[in-house]
Amino acid sequence: MSPSTNTTQNFDITVIGIGGMGSAALYHLAKRGSRVCGVEQFSPGHNLGSSHGDSRMIRAAYHEHPDYVPLVRRAIDHWRRLGDESGQTLLETPGVLMVGREGSKVLTGMRESAMLHGIPIEDIARDDFARRFPGFSLPPDMKSTFEPGAGFVHVEAAVRQMTALAVQAGATLYQEETVLSWQAKAHAIEVITDKRRINTERLVLTAGPWIKDLLVKLNLPLQLHKMMMLWFAPHTKPAPNQPGFGYDLPDGFYYGLPQVSSFGIKVGKHVAEDPISNPDTFDRTLTQRHLEPISRFVKDYLPFLGDQVTRHASCIYTMTPDEHFIVDQYPSDPRVVFASSCSGHGFKFAPVIGEILTDLCLNGSTRLPADFLRLGQRFA
Ligand SMILES: Cc1cc2nc3c(=O)[nH]c(=O)nc-3n(C[C@H](O)[C@H](O)[C@H](O)COP(=O)(O)OP(=O)(O)OC[C@H]3O[C@@H](n4cnc5c(N)ncnc54)[C@H](O)[C@@H]3O)c2cc1C
Repeated sequence: MSPSTNTTQNFDITVIGIGGMGSAALYHLAKRGSRVCGVEQFSPGHNLGSSHGDSRMIRAAYHEHPDYVPLVRRAIDHWRRLGDESGQTLLETPGVLMVGREGSKVLTGMRESAMLHGIPIEDIARDDFARRFPGFSLPPDMKSTFEPGAGFVHVEAAVRQMTALAVQAGATLYQEETVLSWQAKAHAIEVITDKRRINTERLVLTAGPWIKDLLVKLNLPLQLHKMMMLWFAPHTKPAPNQPGFGYDLPDGFYYGLPQVSSFGIKVGKHVAEDPISNPDTFDRTLTQRHLEPISRFVKDYLPFLGDQVTRHASCIYTMTPDEHFIVDQYPSDPRVVFASSCSGHGFKFAPVIGEILTDLCLNGSTRLPADFLRLGQRFA
């Protein structure tokens, strides 16, 4: 397909998709002096992809795998710096409380990462639980562990601020503009959007749930899932510095994040069990399939919350079979780099993934310990 105008622009680097990962890449590339543009089909901070819904949990005692710990620590430094630079609080650290049975994968993994990397965590004595965490329930067969340095990132503000800082540093942003195709040629990569042609020396693909369309030849085994976030209002004013929380239960991992708006506490279930095929056309309504388990969880474990849903929003997970991200160079052309498939836990890493993409783009390699996220033969 050809662009509707004959406009052609030239850039050193083009970033396709200015969501969580793309806004971070745009920021780092602009800061390092590249002549960079970002193309976004909607506008930064929109609510149709994977990076919206007020908040995203961030924790360093990483139960998914200890290899993520150095990356999340660096991301925390970036979030603090980005907050200072933008003059807006992007990261808040009221702590995160995890609850599960003894032997729960979440508690075991969290303790392992904390021990290996010297991250402060605290097992909460049963006698102390009600005093320290009023309103949360701790069933007799469950234990709890608290990570005081964990918390959450303000997700839409983070995307908007990273984009704004990138533009301030010289990046060009094309929003409400869709990339239709890209093609690597000998001297440049040609990107065709619905408004222009872009000739670019290097290309960063951060299209989130849409990335499969831009990486067709790699035939990546990615699966999209519809997720729902629900908000519930507390009966009384929440205690100050209320933590984020996660409950590792037999039917899945439930999580919640502190109140940042009048809608109350956000609650969700982190289990990818509602596959969708098209991020543009799937049914975004709240159905019993999502409402019932989350409401039951709230009733059973969070007695401080009312039973009325005050707000709901749909969002998309892009899952890999091993639930780890893919951050790599395109196998047959290192001028193209990409990051996605963050399997429902990637946002906290956005600024460090943006840094890794920038390193790969400008230097062909990175000193950050991210080899475990390369594509390699993982899904061969
Ligand atoms: C309900 C939910 C809860 C989550 N909770 C957490 C959490 O607590 N902590 C955590 O760390 N992570 C969490 N995650 C995961 C995290 O939010 C995602 O991993 C992350 O937001 C993915 O960012 P992304 O940049 O890959 O995708 P997106 O932010 O969706 O960005 C992709 C962008 O590319 C644009 N785009 C796509 N195709 C084109 C095209 N052809 N032309 C132009 N633009 C294009 C899209 O419009 C979009 O803006 C959660 C995710 C969901 C859905």
